[in-house]
Amino acid sequence: MVPRINGVEAKSIFTKSGLPGSDWVINPYNGCLFGCMYCYAAQIARWKHPDEEWGSYLDVKTNAPELLKEELEKLEKKLKSKDFGSVFFSSVTDPYVGMEPKYRLTRKCLEVLADFGYEGSIAIQTKSPLVMEDIDVLKRLKKVSVGFTITSLDDKVSQFLEVKAPLISQRLGALKKLHDAGISTYAFVGPILPHFLTDKKILKTLLDTLQQAGVNEVWFEHINLSSKIKERLYNYLGKEAPELLPLFDSTNTQEYRDHLDHYINQEINSRGMKLGLGKVIHHRSLPKKK
Ligand code: SF4
Repeated sequence: MVPRINGVEAKSIFTKSGLPGSDWVINPYNGCLFGCMYCYAAQIARWKHPDEEWGSYLDVKTNAPELLKEELEKLEKKLKSKDFGSVFFSSVTDPYVGMEPKYRLTRKCLEVLADFGYEGSIAIQTKSPLVMEDIDVLKRLKKVSVGFTITSLDDKVSQFLEVKAPLISQRLGALKKLHDAGISTYAFVGPILPHFLTDKKILKTLLDTLQQAGVNEVWFEHINLSSKIKERLYNYLGKEAPELLPLFDSTNTQEYRDHLDHYINQEINSRGMKLGLGKVIHHRSLPKKK
């Protein structure tokens, strides 16, 4: 299927964040061509595209860099500061989605932040090694870190669930290169897929591999199985791998998640690594297992 690319004029670009750990969010695009089957943004971002399949469209906010410059200058006047808090790229897209080489909106927004002399922290989270093309701009930012989503070490798993995203092996390679280039990095293990407790070696090997790539900070997030996300994911699993459905179901209890949190904390602490936010991210409380 050929994706539908729409040029749009954004009304705002530097927006308040509802995500844990960030004050502001920048989305140079709306929609994401990577089309991950567990994506929470699929529900948030698609209000403008209610009938289009997630992964089949992308809104390109062509005025994003100019608008960002204006908004930063207004905030500076109001707050008398160049630090408005932590900024996150991005909440309803991947900032290095495949059209970035054509439009360079993420790069241009980073240049605006660098030219402005933004003093707050900036986190860029992606699944794409394209971010490495912007190392020169990243080096001009005062406090920046780049995170890669790593849900498994197995390329087959990433191909199955993160259908059109770059492979995990490419992401790990990029993490190492960014670290070697002196850029602060982190890994985001989210959603936590239901295999960490079935085979405890998986988490150990994952953390060992991340450490070898120079990562010291890891964020973990439990899978969000709210009704809309679950509907899309379970439809896909039902067609492609129905044997996995009971496994996903088994992770949807508070007991499972408490047990996993304890294990993750133990493994992180024993390695002297840092757990993002100091805890595993939960979305909502779950029923007790019967
Ligand atoms: S890369 Fe992120 S925003 Fe894009 S589909 Fe995957 S989870 Fe959603």
